[in-house]
Parts: sequence; C-alpha cells; structure tokens
Amino acid sequence: MKPKQNIMHLPVYQPGKPIDEVKRELGLTEVIKLASNENPFGCSPKAKEAIIATVEQTSIYPDGGAVELTQAVAAELGVQPNQIIFGAGSDEVILMIARAFLTPQDETIAAFPTFPQYKHNAEVEGATVIEVSVDADGKHDLGAMLAKVNERTKIVWICNPNNPTGTILNEQEIVSFLDAVPDHVMVVLDEAYVEYTVNGQFPDSIALLNKYKNIVVLRTFSKIFGLASLRIGYGVGHPDVIRSVNQVREPFNTTSYAQKAALAAVKDKAFIEFCRDANAKGIAQLTAAFDEMGLPYFDANGNFIMVDVKRPGNDVFQSLLRQGIIVRHDPSWGYPTMIRVTVGSEEQNDKFVDALKLALREVAVS
Ligand SMILES: *Cc1c(COP(=O)(O)O)cnc(C)c1O
Repeated sequence: MKPKQNIMHLPVYQPGKPIDEVKRELGLTEVIKLASNENPFGCSPKAKEAIIATVEQTSIYPDGGAVELTQAVAAELGVQPNQIIFGAGSDEVILMIARAFLTPQDETIAAFPTFPQYKHNAEVEGATVIEVSVDADGKHDLGAMLAKVNERTKIVWICNPNNPTGTILNEQEIVSFLDAVPDHVMVVLDEAYVEYTVNGQFPDSIALLNKYKNIVVLRTFSKIFGLASLRIGYGVGHPDVIRSVNQVREPFNTTSYAQKAALAAVKDKAFIEFCRDANAKGIAQLTAAFDEMGLPYFDANGNFIMVDVKRPGNDVFQSLLRQGIIVRHDPSWGYPTMIRVTVGSEEQNDKFVDALKLALREVAVS
C-alpha cells in the first residue's frame, strides 16, 4: 500500500516532553513543564464542575453543531451563530479550512518560523507552501508576504501573537495588509493567545470581520481557558466561508465535555482576568531576569517568551531538563541559540530562572 505522495515526507508531530516521562527517565520527583504554553493555573473551577456534571451523558453522542456553545460565543463576540465553527482544538479548524479550500493547484503563504500546522495541513492537501521569514524582531514581514501573493494564492496564515516568537502585528499593520490583499485570498488570523495580549494596539479582528469578508479568526480554549486536554477551539468568519468549512466537518468533532466546559469557561471572566494579569506580571518577572543576565528576547505578547541564551539552545534545554524544567527548543525554528519558555506561576518562574542561571554556567558560550 502506498500513501499519498505529498504526505510521505511529513514529520510526525513532536510534542513537548510529557512530565511523567521526564520524571521516569531522570529519576526526578518534581518536574515543571514550561514547554507547551499551557495555563499554569489550570482551568476555571466552573469548567471542572461542568465536566463532572456531564459524566452521565457519556454514552450519548454530543451535539455535533455545538448549538448552545455557538450561541454563547456568538453573543460574547457580537457576531451571528452562522459565523462560527467549532473544532477539536483550533488545530482541527486549521485542518478543516485546508481540507475545504486547498487543492494541489493552490499556493498558501505563512511566516517562518510560525505555528507548524498551517504548513502541515496545506501539504496534506498537496498545496504549495511559501514561507516568508520573520524580520529581525521576530515579527511577520507583511510586506514580503504580500509580495508573494499571486492569482494562485488561496490562503495567507497570520499568527498573531506569533508562536514561537511571541510578537504581534498591530491594528494598523493588519488593516494595511487586508487593504492590499486581493479578495480571492483568505486571510486566517490565528489568535490563540489573544486573551493574554495587553498591548492597546492589538487589532480588534472581530470588528474587522464587518469590513473584510475574507478573514477567518481562530481562537482556542486550550490556552488561557486551560482546557487543552478537552480539545476545543473555533473559527469566526463570513457565513459563506463557515458553511464551506462546516461541509467538511466530521459529524461529532467536539465532545460534550469540551462544549460544556467551554460554555462555563467563557462565563468565568474573573478567572481569565486573573490569568491575564498573572501572565503580564510573569513576563515582567522573567524579562527583568533576562535583562539582568544580559539575554536578549523577542517582544512577548502571549504566555511564552523566546529568549536568546547565547549558547546552543539544545544544550541549555538538556541542562534545564536535568534540573526538572521542560522548555522548548526546536532546531527547525532557525534560531540555534534560542529557547521558548512558557510563563509559569511566580514560583515556577523563579525556579526556572535559578535553573537557567546554572545552565548558563554549565554550557559554554557558542
Ligand atoms: C496552541 C495553538 C493553537 C491550537 O491549539 P488547540 O489546542 O488545537 O486549540 C493554534 N495556534 C497557535 C498559534 C497555538 O499556539
């Protein structure tokens, strides 16, 4: 049997190392995972209650259309329910967009480095992926991305804030780009970290939907809402676009647990505010430590920071791992001396900083 030619070269996704595996391998009792941008404060207690209350419905198929949750989120955002589609994480929404829109004749444009799922899913569909390096500040180079748009371009993926660099594009930069892009091009704005942003210049992409029919905004319950294991995220766009994406959706793609927990989570504003605030403090705490150590970093707008440890990133990663702290270093990012660390609780951040200081002594400057 032979798989599709265009998937033969695809790597299997390498997740951040699981805590239990690290404990076992290194004989550690305490391990802190700051590798996958998970919420260090867990999720809303109201979401946990909703999950428990759903146990009795385990043998019943979920509501495939996620009607109640769709209405709640639509009301929250001020859009119509037919402008929203839910997926098993926004990962699945990316997959469905690619499945519904991309063919082997199409081109699609993304930044480099950015979230890998745009490229991955485009390649599964056989589309040509054009990657445009971020600028020296780790920001999307929208001018260079625009220059790659042609009549074959179907989708431009913009990750804002960008994972892994953490940088943002402001309202004016996004609007200028949207004004310049032709109508036949879909612009996906992946805003997985939007709730963490505290920069007043961050675009109001939902308001932009009224003017630009070609945008799809992606959001997730995996990050600030702390529901990563339940797999739920969504896309917001023009009803025609959302209908097309719905046509390729699996009938029961999100679980009852995920829907009920997300419904409770959107209502718990206090939890979100607490997490946003703690994260901003955590960024200040970590960047102050990096400044003291003389380590440069990109402008951080999500719940993670990309920092230049000025030494081989993998060696620093390994040293931190031996000390029970998991961060992320990916050679494919093209930043051999950078690591990405998720902002933890104040105590976790302190432990990470101490471990990093030791790692910097252990690992020679490259
Ligand atoms: C985490 C993340 C997602 C998707 O997360 P899901 O768990 O699939 O909802 C999407 N985009 C970016 C940039 C992310 O960092």
